[in-house]
Amino acid sequence: MHDRDARMTGTAGTAGTVTNWARTITYTARAFHRPRTLDALTALVAGSARVRVLGSGHSFNRIADPGTEGVLLSTAGLPPVIEVDSAARTVRVSGGVRYAELARTVHAHGLALPNLASLPHISVAGSVATGTHGSGVGNGPLASAVREVELVLADGSTVTIGRDDPRFHGAVTSLGALGVVTALTLGLEPAYGVEQRVYTELALSGLDFESVAAAGYSVSLFTDWREPGFRQVWVKRRTDRPAVDFPWAAPAPGPLHPVPGMPAENCTEQLGVPGPWHERLPHFRAEFTPSSGEEIQSEYLLPRSAAVDALYAIDGIRHTVAGVLQTCEVRTVAADPQWLSPAHGRDSVALHFTWIRDEAAVLPVVRRLEEALEPFDPRPHWGKVFGIPSAVLRGRYPHLADFHALVRSLDPAGTFSNAFVRDLLGD
Ligand SMILES: Cc1cc2nc3c(=O)[nH]c(=O)nc-3n(C[C@H](O)[C@H](O)[C@H](O)COP(=O)(O)OP(=O)(O)OC[C@H]3O[C@@H](n4cnc5c(N)ncnc54)[C@H](O)[C@@H]3O)c2cc1C
Repeated sequence: MHDRDARMTGTAGTAGTVTNWARTITYTARAFHRPRTLDALTALVAGSARVRVLGSGHSFNRIADPGTEGVLLSTAGLPPVIEVDSAARTVRVSGGVRYAELARTVHAHGLALPNLASLPHISVAGSVATGTHGSGVGNGPLASAVREVELVLADGSTVTIGRDDPRFHGAVTSLGALGVVTALTLGLEPAYGVEQRVYTELALSGLDFESVAAAGYSVSLFTDWREPGFRQVWVKRRTDRPAVDFPWAAPAPGPLHPVPGMPAENCTEQLGVPGPWHERLPHFRAEFTPSSGEEIQSEYLLPRSAAVDALYAIDGIRHTVAGVLQTCEVRTVAADPQWLSPAHGRDSVALHFTWIRDEAAVLPVVRRLEEALEPFDPRPHWGKVFGIPSAVLRGRYPHLADFHALVRSLDPAGTFSNAFVRDLLGD
């Protein structure tokens, strides 16, 4: 395993101890398997009553935990498949491949993905399963690049669901509840260049959020909430798009890390030096561990039109938030048709919080934050820490019943379900 991924002690096939990347979650599975072939994976699935799949283990909650009766099945040992079709501008990729490896291969063919998350170390299937996203007013979540998904179902059979299939909008951001995603086909575009510049000290007072968020292809605002306003704004411009006009804040004199005091070497190149898309869109370089892992994360997506009001709501409790916060990142995500996407049906602002790794101190602040954001109908990131009750969340997903029906049809015995999914679906 990658040295900062899901971590395992003991040997595959036994319970051992398996934790998430941040080591904040210890999975309670009765057994952990890391099959090396698709046949072995299929046999394991067909022979197990309860299964959850683990990608690169970067989630911060129990979404991947099968529970004490279940089997945790890692895709990290499967042979990586990355098949680029240059003529069709697509790539077929096995689910456990990470974006860093995928991006390098795709770029070598002169092609590109439309967007990436803040770090490239995460697996493709695990990322799209939770609605993982980057930033950009015109950019949907990473799932919006998916054209087709290939699944191994509970009985060991396989199914491929493409864009023309009425089940497609439930099949990509599916929380791992349908089966094992063995491969995905993603749409590509010609490779493009990106340059990024960081600006410092953007005031909250008078903030023209729409203009700031649209100033580049991908824009992120960072603050520690110790003072009102933003310490940094990262603007990533495609070099095939017009120059950035950013009159609201001053350019940083040197490279910066989004967490104050952390070294900038781990971060992607700044100061307007152009480079390939995959070396600029993530904030963190593929060859470095993005951070120490001493963290807990939460994130909420709400309508973009509510961004300024929501930021003032956080400003109203900023001393409470700042006490346990490492950094807060504000991004935008374009509306997404996936039924369970936190950006479903609405252009969204995403409010992300990297907390200190002290659950007892952080959880009360998460609750306080959720109360402050409640008027804006927040939908939490599925892979991060949240406390909004499922009964409330159900009302925020108009296609939840369709998703529930899809789960029942593809996985009638609930083999791929777990406490997280059952609670959400009200089973
Ligand atoms: C440092 C850090 C930075 C992050 N930055 C961002 C960011 O910029 N934007 C953002 O939106 N999120 C971000 N995240 C969150 C992260 O993208 C999500 O948690 C994502 O799910 C991670 O993918 P994974 O492979 O690690 O998933 P895991 O945590 O391994 O699994 C997540 C879910 O996917 C399911 N799953 C995984 N693989 C499969 C498969 N092959 N078949 C079926 N189900 C599967 C699991 O069962 C589980 O339900 C960040 C996390 C960290 C730790």
